[in-house]
Amino acid sequence: MGKTSKDKRDIYYRLAKEEGWRARSAFKLLQINEEYDIFNGVLRAVDLCAAPGSWSQVLTKKLRQNTDNEEDVKIVAVDLQAMASLPGVKQIQGDITKVSTANEIIKEFEGLKADLVVCDGAPDVTGLHDIDEYVQSQLLLAALNITTHVLKTGGVFVAKIFRGKDVTLLYSQLKLFFEFVTVSKPRSSRNSSIEAFVICQNFKPPEGYTPTMVNPLLDHKYCDFNQFTGPNRFIVPFNACGDLSAYDSDTSYPLVLEGQSSYEYKDPVQSPIDPPYKDILEKTKCMQIKKQ
Ligand code: SAM
Repeated sequence: MGKTSKDKRDIYYRLAKEEGWRARSAFKLLQINEEYDIFNGVLRAVDLCAAPGSWSQVLTKKLRQNTDNEEDVKIVAVDLQAMASLPGVKQIQGDITKVSTANEIIKEFEGLKADLVVCDGAPDVTGLHDIDEYVQSQLLLAALNITTHVLKTGGVFVAKIFRGKDVTLLYSQLKLFFEFVTVSKPRSSRNSSIEAFVICQNFKPPEGYTPTMVNPLLDHKYCDFNQFTGPNRFIVPFNACGDLSAYDSDTSYPLVLEGQSSYEYKDPVQSPIDPPYKDILEKTKCMQIKKQ
C-alpha cells in the first residue's frame, strides 16, 4: 500500500494531517460540539483514553477560547499508552479501570471539579463482537465511575459506546446520573463501525449517592434490571451530528478536491512514540543488516 492510499481512502485521515490534528478522531469531537455545544463555558476537562492526543488538542484550542487567561484552563489526559506531550495538558499514564489511576486524576483537581469529562476509550478489538462490546462497556463504566468523582453538578460527560445488543442497559445506567442522555454518530465516524458517542448532560447524581472507588454499576446484579419494563426502560434519542455537507467518512474522495489546490502528501502530525510494532520493526531491520 503506497503512502497516499490511506489519504485517498479516508478523507478525515488526510484532513487531520492537513489541519495538524494527531488523529482523525478530532473531527468526531468537533462535530459533536457543533451539535451539542459541549465546550460552552468549560475551563476544566478530563480526557480519558487520550492517546495519541487529538481530543486533547481540540480541548486545548476550545477551552482557551473561553478565557483571557490560559492559566484558568486545566486539562488532564489519561491513557495506557505514553503520549507525546502537549502544552497545557497534564498527562497521566495509567489504566482507567484501576483505582490508582482514578485517584491520581482526582488528586490533580485538588478538590475542584471538572466541567467536562470525555472518553474515547477503545479496547484492542478482537473481532468477537460480544467480547468487544463487553470490554468496551467496562471501559465506559470505569470512565463513568471516575466521572462521578470529578465532574461538577450540571457537568457534561461524552463517551464512546458500542451500540451492541445490551446497550439499553448502559443507557439506563447513565440516565441514573444525567438528566439528558443522547447517543450521537458524527459524520466522521464510519457507518461500518458500531461506535457512537453518548452525550450525557446535566450531571445530577441520585440523592444520597456517594462516589466510591468500587464501581457501583459493575457490582449491580444483572438480574436486578429488566431493560424492557418499569422505570429503567428509557429510549435514548439517536441523532447524526456534523453538518450534512461534511465529508462522508465511508466515501473515497479524489486526491485533488474540487476547487482546491493540488494534493501534497503530509506525514502524520505525531507518529506513535512507542507503538506495539516497534520491536518487530527493530528486529526486521537487524535481520536485513545481517543479510547484507
Ligand atoms: N481520543 C484519542 C485521540 O483523539 O487521539 C484516540 C483514542 S484511541 C481511539 C483509544 C485509546 O484508548 C487508546 O490510546 C488506548 O490506549 C486507550 N485505552 C484503552 N483501554 C484503556 C484503559 N483501560 N485505560 C486507559 N486507556 C485505555
